[in-house]
Amino acid sequence: EVVVVGSCMTDLVSLTTRLPRAGETILGHKFFIGFGGKGANQCVQSARLGAKTSLICKVGKDSFGNDYVENLKKNGISTAFVGQTADAATGTASIIVNSEGQNVIVIVPGANLLLNFEDLKRASDVICKAKVVVCQLEITPAVSLEALKMARASGVKTLFNPAPALPDLDPQFYTHSDIFCCNETEAEILTGIPVGNLEDAEKVGHMLLERGCKLVIVTLGAEGCMMISVEEPIPKHVPAGKVRAVDTTGAGDSFVGALAFYLAYYPKLPMEEMIRKSNCVASVSVQASGTQSSYPFRKDLPQDLF
Ligand code: ADP
Repeated sequence: EVVVVGSCMTDLVSLTTRLPRAGETILGHKFFIGFGGKGANQCVQSARLGAKTSLICKVGKDSFGNDYVENLKKNGISTAFVGQTADAATGTASIIVNSEGQNVIVIVPGANLLLNFEDLKRASDVICKAKVVVCQLEITPAVSLEALKMARASGVKTLFNPAPALPDLDPQFYTHSDIFCCNETEAEILTGIPVGNLEDAEKVGHMLLERGCKLVIVTLGAEGCMMISVEEPIPKHVPAGKVRAVDTTGAGDSFVGALAFYLAYYPKLPMEEMIRKSNCVASVSVQASGTQSSYPFRKDLPQDLF
């Protein structure tokens, strides 16, 4: 089983011709609600590839929370450890996008920040019996770290995605991640190295290995990924296929969710092969608009991915 400990966010998206100035009211031409949050996104992608999944998270006792639980169930995710709290609202991302595709975003984590050690304890059975535990940083970082520690203590593989990045990440995150997977922005915030090409990513990889990571993946958008590990300290480039990208929002989460699936269900595959397959899944997600709505199902993918 793939267990994700992380966030749920309701995306409230308004499309306008331009972004409003302070104090200004403008008209938009379209509004929609989407399901987001890095934890849930990654879990949904894993589930759509056929993984048995549990999401450990917290939403509000409100209509967004109720809708989110329904969404998880529709995706076949176990909601046994989805808490609903009356003390905060479901996490939201209020997003305004102008006609050039530029956006302004306000995130209110709300209930996500109330996920706590008690919740992890209640879920300790599923965490400790998982094949892979996946964490990010859209919940209280100490809770993510505790989940990684619980998994580690039971010999469960840990996949950590330091997103959104924190400049002074607790160094224990490096030593408690079997796989540390970040994008270019996160890599720069963590190491101070701006990543514009493969060589920069390789420098990041070496630096993160020195900090105690066992295996580092830096995702490079259309360029695919860079991987480096303690076992194979020569960096490898794993390119992504050439596709026509329509909307790359949530591509990183599609990649992490897919990687969790391969780690859990094809543990004997070489890491490079798992990354190549995960690139394929994520590159399909960028060819449709939306976040979870663009994530492919197993039946829609080339069967040689399985
Ligand atoms: P994030 O969404 O976190 O910014 P990236 O942009 O690095 O992450 O994308 C994550 C993964 O999604 C890449 O490693 C790649 O597999 C896939 N991907 C992203 N953009 C493209 C693209 N334009 N063409 C093909 N694959 C892409």
